[in-house]
Amino acid sequence: MAATYPHPIPNNNLNVVQNPTGATINNLPNVNQLVGDVAQWMTDNLAEGNSWINITEPGRVLVLANAQTDNPYPGFAHAEVLNGTMLNADILRLHTTWLRDNEAWLKSQRSPKLKAADPKFAYGPNELLEENALPPDLGGSNNAFTDKVGKRIIINGHVDDGGILVHEYFHTFDPGDPSDVGWGFDEGIVDFFARDVAARFGYGYKGNAGYEGGYQTVKAIVDRIGLDKVCQFWFEREPSLFNPLSIKSKAVAEHCKPCAPSTVTLTMIDDFCQLAESLTGWKAPARTVAPVAKAAPSPAKKWPPVQPVGNVFRSHG
Ligand SMILES: [Zn+2]
Repeated sequence: MAATYPHPIPNNNLNVVQNPTGATINNLPNVNQLVGDVAQWMTDNLAEGNSWINITEPGRVLVLANAQTDNPYPGFAHAEVLNGTMLNADILRLHTTWLRDNEAWLKSQRSPKLKAADPKFAYGPNELLEENALPPDLGGSNNAFTDKVGKRIIINGHVDDGGILVHEYFHTFDPGDPSDVGWGFDEGIVDFFARDVAARFGYGYKGNAGYEGGYQTVKAIVDRIGLDKVCQFWFEREPSLFNPLSIKSKAVAEHCKPCAPSTVTLTMIDDFCQLAESLTGWKAPARTVAPVAKAAPSPAKKWPPVQPVGNVFRSHG
């Protein structure tokens, strides 16, 4: 089926909130709604796959801020969990259960410092929490991260309003690693999926400006071969389709690296599309699906924009 255009356009100016609260995370989707909408979108586009986490469980989506490294001991960091102050009944319910679970987990640790640690905070390796729970001028470098080991999605409350969850959730369907597709191309696919879901179901996610090169490449490919083929390539990775095409996608990825100007040419896109169209083994094209009428997207961020921080900030959502 054709993608649901127009897609949202990301803002190049990074908004930094020095002291975020739940109220500034005003585009975090309801997790149950997001799971259902993505499942519907996948069905419509002939995609089959599974997330490696259930984001409707407590603690799977954490919005963090104000990390302190080497706390409670060297190599460990703690960060404030903003989920408990959000104006979203579902998130608050999950947070109450997470608090109880986190307390039980801390008490079960061998370290006396962890046993006595405050359960209101999230704990983890310094590097991980510092990058994802601080503003760029204090060392934060990511707006969000899928923590495959910890089975959680971390959102940096200093630089994101929660909308990035639509994008991060797709990363949890990755059966391998972004390098299997090529990093910038992989991010372009994920951001295309996320913007398509946002446009169709009315989420506030606007797209990640750092991945615009990959997104525009994928958009041109979807316009040529259809979203259902791109979905089958990315979600299912059936070897007779994935192996030859991923050689091409990795080559194109060298020309659409994250946070860099795209040097992808029409010839490269043609090359990928011609190979895709020559391969057999694709499923039948999806039927046309009308857009679903849903609530309007959340209003724009309410905080004023600050000066962009340029290449200090590496967006890795
Ligand atoms: Zn991403």
